[in-house]
Amino acid sequence: MTGMVFRTRIIKAGSLEIGGNLPVRIQSMTNTDTLDTASSVRQCIRIIEAGGELVRLTAQGIREAENLANIKRELRKAGFDTPLCADIHFNPSAAEVAARIVEKVRINPGNYADKRALFIRHELSESDYAAELDRIRDRLMPLIAICREHGTAVRIGVNHGSLSDRIMTRYGNTAMGMAVSAVEFLRIFRGEGFNNIVVSMKSSDTRVMVESNRMLVRMLSEEGMDYPVHLGITEAGVGEDGRIISAAGIGTLLAEGIGDTVRVSLSEAPEHEIPVAKEIIRFVCGNGGRVTVPSPPIEVATGGERYFPLVITENNGLFSDERGGLFDGEIFTFNAGELQYEEESELFNKILNPVFNEDDHARLSIDAAALLGRFFIARRPAGLAISNRGRVQGEALRSLAFAILQATEARITRTRYISCPTCGRTRFNLEEAVRKVKAATSHLTGMKIAVMGCVVNGPGEMAGSDYGYVGAAEGKVHIYRGTEAIMKNIPEDEALTRLLELIESDHARR
Ligand code: SF4
Repeated sequence: MTGMVFRTRIIKAGSLEIGGNLPVRIQSMTNTDTLDTASSVRQCIRIIEAGGELVRLTAQGIREAENLANIKRELRKAGFDTPLCADIHFNPSAAEVAARIVEKVRINPGNYADKRALFIRHELSESDYAAELDRIRDRLMPLIAICREHGTAVRIGVNHGSLSDRIMTRYGNTAMGMAVSAVEFLRIFRGEGFNNIVVSMKSSDTRVMVESNRMLVRMLSEEGMDYPVHLGITEAGVGEDGRIISAAGIGTLLAEGIGDTVRVSLSEAPEHEIPVAKEIIRFVCGNGGRVTVPSPPIEVATGGERYFPLVITENNGLFSDERGGLFDGEIFTFNAGELQYEEESELFNKILNPVFNEDDHARLSIDAAALLGRFFIARRPAGLAISNRGRVQGEALRSLAFAILQATEARITRTRYISCPTCGRTRFNLEEAVRKVKAATSHLTGMKIAVMGCVVNGPGEMAGSDYGYVGAAEGKVHIYRGTEAIMKNIPEDEALTRLLELIESDHARR
């Protein structure tokens, strides 16, 4: 049996068409100050030359939105016609300026017409709720008119960490809340006859990201909507872990035929994101850039038993358990590039043993996560034994198996880090901060620590973390426990020590 095809319409952002049967598009976002034209243009060019087909820039205020005109002009002068997208939070006026300049505007339903969520439950009657939607409609009308006049596309981009209090009160901070949040906005745009739209559901949690997108597609289908879907895991982090978590989430949905554009969000130079996105798409979709026979979603296993997938090692055809003893349980061996969807249910409750033939470690990590993520998100296999006939061998394969289980939260054996990709709001070297925080806390198995670029969006988007290290004013950091800022404006060179002291004192009190 194959999955249902969610066939989207084709929309246009400048010269770029997105959706339908077109190849899945790749995008990234600058992390320069949008007021710094020269740096932003240089970074846009690096993204484009790496293969980025759309470049997003933050436009937190009117000045940044206005400066998009200079950036666009310089890019066009340099011979690049790649469409630009303005990223908007909290500031409809900035969106209205940007929509006259760039080819696409991303708005967040959680904070476009609503203030920052205060996590206050405020029950609304049906008529109050309808009145809220009328208020949002009024706030969107100018943007819709401008986008229509200028042919600008809109992305309705929901983030798990920034739902409005209105949505959270009724639906909770859930996948359902995310999908409803988008659909409410989509109904308004559609009601006005504006359909040049892309929609996205992002989360730093692979399971929430996958579940919310599936739910979104179900809701769109039920309402006869066919808008293209943009995929991404937010705050994926750096290095191999960031690549694995992105591949697991994005790969799962692409295999199901969901997704028309992708962005891999790494806390690294944005041009590093492009080859990762390309590899996920190549592995899952093939050279045509689009899955032709989608796989049905694998339902999450139900039942009360604790899920504890094993990591098994294969050596010359012999399988060893985690203590080095001979493993003689049920193993399903298959060629990693040739798994048939008909075989998928055969993998349930067995040790998955994909056999790769890969010499490149980075590529193997991405391919393995893109292939296997969906099974572990669904909590189906009994464990994982990765085999490789190429150069990557031994401990690297075992470590990769643990990383995939961690990325899907099937089995936690490491500290989990989330860190944002940075943008024009970041005022410190986040990549360096992540490296320092990781070096000092990697022994804290199971703990979730966030390193975020700014206090505007960082605290919301790191929700679920135990502790947060969040950039504040120039050279200053706020330290969070959960969602509460415990120490504010700590000089950067003291911040790590203060974070460790807080963790230690919390631990001592337990
Ligand atoms: S958390 Fe702040 S700095 Fe980081 S990407 Fe989001 S808006 Fe930019």
